[in-house]
Amino acid sequence: MLENLKTGMESLCVMVVDDDPLAVKVVAQLLRPLACQVLTACSGEEAVELFNRQRPDIIYMDVQMEGMDGIEATRRIKALAGEQWVPLVIISGEGDTKAVAECLNAGADDFYRKPINSTFFHAKFRTLYRALSMQRSLVTMSEQLKQSQARYRNLFLRAPIGYLVMDTKGLIIESNRALQALLGYAPDQLKGRRWIDLLDREDRDKAFASANILQVEGETVSPPIQTRNLVTGATIYMEVHALLDQNEQGETQIHCNIIDLTERVLAERETNALLNRLSVAADVFEYTRDSILVTDAELRIIDVNPAFTDISGYSREEALGQTPQLLNSGLTPASIYHDMWQTLASTDFWRGEVINRRKDGQVTAENLAITTVRDRESGGILYYVGVMDRLNPHRDDLITGLPQRAALRQHMVGIIESQSAQQDTALVIMGLDGFKEINTALGVASGDLLLKEIGNRIRKLLPADCFAARTGGDEFGILMSASVDQASMHQFLEALLEQTRQPCHIGGESVYPRVSAGLAIYPEDARDFEGLMQCADEAMQSAKRSGGNRWEYFRKSRKDEILAVKHLLDDLRAALQNAEFFLAYQPIFDLRSGRLLKAEALLRWNHPERGLVGPADFIPAAEHSGKILAIGQWVFENASRDLQSLLQIEPAFQLSINFSAKQIFDSNFDVGTYIQLLTDVDIPPSHIVLEFTEGVMLTEEKVIADRLHALRAAGFEIAIDDFGTGYSSLSYVDRFNFNYLKIDQSFVRAPRSDSKKQALCRAIVSMGHALDLKIIAEGIETEAQQALLEGIGCDYGQGYFLGRPMPLDALKALMKKP
Ligand code: C2E
Ligand code: CA
Ligand code: CA
Repeated sequence: MLENLKTGMESLCVMVVDDDPLAVKVVAQLLRPLACQVLTACSGEEAVELFNRQRPDIIYMDVQMEGMDGIEATRRIKALAGEQWVPLVIISGEGDTKAVAECLNAGADDFYRKPINSTFFHAKFRTLYRALSMQRSLVTMSEQLKQSQARYRNLFLRAPIGYLVMDTKGLIIESNRALQALLGYAPDQLKGRRWIDLLDREDRDKAFASANILQVEGETVSPPIQTRNLVTGATIYMEVHALLDQNEQGETQIHCNIIDLTERVLAERETNALLNRLSVAADVFEYTRDSILVTDAELRIIDVNPAFTDISGYSREEALGQTPQLLNSGLTPASIYHDMWQTLASTDFWRGEVINRRKDGQVTAENLAITTVRDRESGGILYYVGVMDRLNPHRDDLITGLPQRAALRQHMVGIIESQSAQQDTALVIMGLDGFKEINTALGVASGDLLLKEIGNRIRKLLPADCFAARTGGDEFGILMSASVDQASMHQFLEALLEQTRQPCHIGGESVYPRVSAGLAIYPEDARDFEGLMQCADEAMQSAKRSGGNRWEYFRKSRKDEILAVKHLLDDLRAALQNAEFFLAYQPIFDLRSGRLLKAEALLRWNHPERGLVGPADFIPAAEHSGKILAIGQWVFENASRDLQSLLQIEPAFQLSINFSAKQIFDSNFDVGTYIQLLTDVDIPPSHIVLEFTEGVMLTEEKVIADRLHALRAAGFEIAIDDFGTGYSSLSYVDRFNFNYLKIDQSFVRAPRSDSKKQALCRAIVSMGHALDLKIIAEGIETEAQQALLEGIGCDYGQGYFLGRPMPLDALKALMKKP
């Protein structure tokens, strides 16, 4: 026990104070085995002085001493010890009771009466020591506690994580610096505020939800909640870890750790945005119509995009590893390259125009923008990125001056999107046979000149509503967007090939170009530009395969059709000579009197193989080929001859003859010829009605008006055919002084339910009458139609119900009928 005590008392210092040296010796003797150090003092003054210096742990003190007695010394020592507890035991003699009491009052802790019994002394000492060590550890503990509390508070206040205590109503009791900083509040500004009021409105529900969970679970972590920093206004994202706890007073409190997620959220967003941008960039690279080329610092091409391939004609594989020299046409002025490298070196960016040559040899001006991409750290050049404008569709090919492929595409798209897509559109691809050989033999420059010449010839021949472009090296594309019929296409192509085959004189040499062409039809052959290009190209290749210097249709069936038209035209030529034409006459009745005083001459063709061919099947071809002039002449001659015999039956008889627009537009038109023909058969022109379609009247050309007036002046009567199908303007009727208006069959045959057409029909009749015109209704097929037309005041009627087109003799027989 003693040993144990001793080990705990290793550092124990005990002071013995007595003015009797013997007494000091005795006590010191008793203490020696217990304490490591025993100090002795023989007076009160010495004791105070020694205490101050050595700070013993325990003091034994005599009461009666010379000078400063024990009472005063106790008071002084206790004052010096202050907070620290230094056990002080009074050793007194008998009769000192009053003084001992005073010592105890002065702060002494115990007293011991002489004589000293060693066992008793030791026992008391141990008790004292235990009390002291207990007190000491209490002090340490409370100090530690204080320290840890301070440390904890420090932690709380200085923690990088926000901390918050609030009551169950959500009023903030305490907050730490991190939270204050996060929210932008001064240290005392948060106290007493409602936590929820600090959050963004939209996110308050999240906080309420978390509070509900907190009540049930005692602990919760909120989803990211958004708010703003009061000072900076910056958006903050935080995660609130809340915990229910009780304070010393037993009140429930909510302790929250608030983690600032702002950086994380923003970083995530940035990452997402970056990823997004990267994928956008990848998409741009992939799908942009601009051609993009990436080289390394040594100018070796390391990547190209699909548009590059599209425009340059070089595949990715062909381009990789090459330098941009690949596109060099040799035509870009050297000064431009000089400027390019100089600007790039100083600003890492250059923009300008260069002239590139595609794989197929076509030379185009392109807008080029080059950016130097450098390593962020080292600053060394990583890549050069070149972006070339998708060929400006409106920029023409430099050699031929024709628009380029892109423009052709655009034009085609325009057609598809517009109304005119209802009509067929033809695409012709025309290429020079053996252009490569010409290029090799005469040089690229001569090749370019040849292309230029071909371009010029195409331009010269191009009908107004067609569009031509240089689509590739030696290839030209022509879109015929107007209502193309096969005959006119055929004619155009024949003329085109004929023209382009004419010899060219280039650099003192005569070049005889051989040209092949392919033709494809939208929408029949393909429904988009690329598809149509392919079809036309295939047709051209096929033409080249079968010897070249010719043109072909894309499809077999089409080819057959065009062959048929080709044949038809050949046949038409023979038809006149072989007298395969004849005329049929369709009677026209006066609807009021029922008399037959007029007829229309309708052309018929008795084809040797195909039998009877209707005019609708061959008139358009005849018009386009120009054959119509001869045919029209034949009709006029034969109709007037037949009219002779009809006039013998009915002297007032009038014959309608269809007159093609081509006939009146013909530069050789002369009223005199027709007068002469009639004079030959002795018929006054007033017995002939010339029928024109509305199209004729649309021309602004004065010469046409003059010719119509000349016809009228000569005594001919004129009619507007198919009125209502075209522009249906009565103004020209008046201007050209027409005699008759023929209402188109579609009005006549319109069902009763089509009140709009019927009303129109009625209007045409009354307006026509107001303009002094006689109205002829065509295509009457039923009695009801006839009655209706008669009812609205229509003058004449023509149609299957009244009489089909018939041979002359049948008409004569009909006229003779009573
Ligand atoms: P068009 O001048 O409108 O001639 C009337 C057409 O309607 C004729 O067709 C006639 O047979 C047809 N038709 C008459 N009544 C009826 C009817 O009740 N129902 C139906 N469904 N059809 C009827 P065709 O003979 O086939 O002539 C077609 C077109 O050919 C003519 O239309 C005319 O534009 C043109 N054509 C005919 N002969 C000549 C000619 O000698 N010279 C010129 N340039 N064109 C001609
Ligand atoms: Ca007619
Ligand atoms: Ca008609």
